[in-house]
Amino acid sequence: MQHSAPLSNSNSENNSDVNRATGSSASDIRHDWQLTEIKELYRLSLNDLLFKAQTVHRQNFDQNTVQTSTLMSIKTGACPEDCKYCPQSGHYNTGLSKEQLVAIDEVIKSAKAAKRTGATRFCMGAAWRSPRGKDFPAVLEMIKAVKALDMETCVTLGMLNDDQAEQLKNAGLDYYNHNLDTSAEYYSEIITTRTYQDRLDTLQSVRGAGIKVCAGGILGMGETLNDRLNLIRELANLPEHPQSVPINQLIAVKGTPLEDARELDPFEFIRMIAIARIVMPKSYVRLSAGRESMSDEMQAMCFFAGANSIFYGEKLLTTENPDMNHDLKLFERLGIEPEGGTPKTNPCPRTLAEEQAKIDAAAQNAKPENKMFYDAAK
Ligand code: SF4
Repeated sequence: MQHSAPLSNSNSENNSDVNRATGSSASDIRHDWQLTEIKELYRLSLNDLLFKAQTVHRQNFDQNTVQTSTLMSIKTGACPEDCKYCPQSGHYNTGLSKEQLVAIDEVIKSAKAAKRTGATRFCMGAAWRSPRGKDFPAVLEMIKAVKALDMETCVTLGMLNDDQAEQLKNAGLDYYNHNLDTSAEYYSEIITTRTYQDRLDTLQSVRGAGIKVCAGGILGMGETLNDRLNLIRELANLPEHPQSVPINQLIAVKGTPLEDARELDPFEFIRMIAIARIVMPKSYVRLSAGRESMSDEMQAMCFFAGANSIFYGEKLLTTENPDMNHDLKLFERLGIEPEGGTPKTNPCPRTLAEEQAKIDAAAQNAKPENKMFYDAAK
């Protein structure tokens, strides 16, 4: 059952409750969060929770700066995993065709375009269970090429072993994205083709190689309040806090098993952002998928709650994202600066869309893949 309203708080006027809720100073880095403590934060009135989160935020970050990343799908569709939220899974018919790994030139063009629009990090995502041997060298070259543009690099390629993580590190990779998705308890309702422990093991390989971790989850997949709070607890209790914590709101894509998932109350989402900020004070908390459906006002509240990173660009792998000009206007209205600075030249709102259109056209020229289900033999 989804919980959409906070539990009651009878002492919200008393600011000391705000401090008691964590039992620690605002910038403490802890890895021993208990569910009861995180629930106490959740039980605060929204005003008290936001105040606490904003206080922690100001102690650790410039409160008016937001980091911007751009995400490019370098290999789309036909993933053998069965993540119930994902339009790229080969288990569901969402109308996406299977595509090959894009050419390195396309990646460089997109990264340059992203840099011109102020993005400081370029993320590349491939719909794989784990990197495929024949494609891995090309991905390493992509990382080197983007790094040479003086941008931070991030990839998400599925599960990694220690050796693959080491090779990514040697290519210059800054961040590896691998989400926990949801609580350990709810996980098997969402994915059956890999385990929670598999995910934790990949994060361990990434950390072991000295790559920064980008790990978060998805809200609104039919999970309970406890699942949401436990997801945040899991992230906060990792041996190191992920440097980036993307909090996604489910995009219910037609054709996936979650197409009819009930929408999450926006205040519930904002509360989770605030709690993530408090328990992972030095992590970038990112508004990720689902931003397209959020009002400007809701995004502003998320920034106040401690979100300080967004994906920028019109596509998030295969789903829509707010256009860049709209984001820049929102930043201006809120007095927020992108971390990489506001683009000096008038940002061309079509640049990334044009790049993506070229990639889409190139993919369409490729041999059509009519099969609905993934063929693991290929
Ligand atoms: S592993 Fe990634 S690309 Fe594959 S189905 Fe899951 S979320 Fe989608």
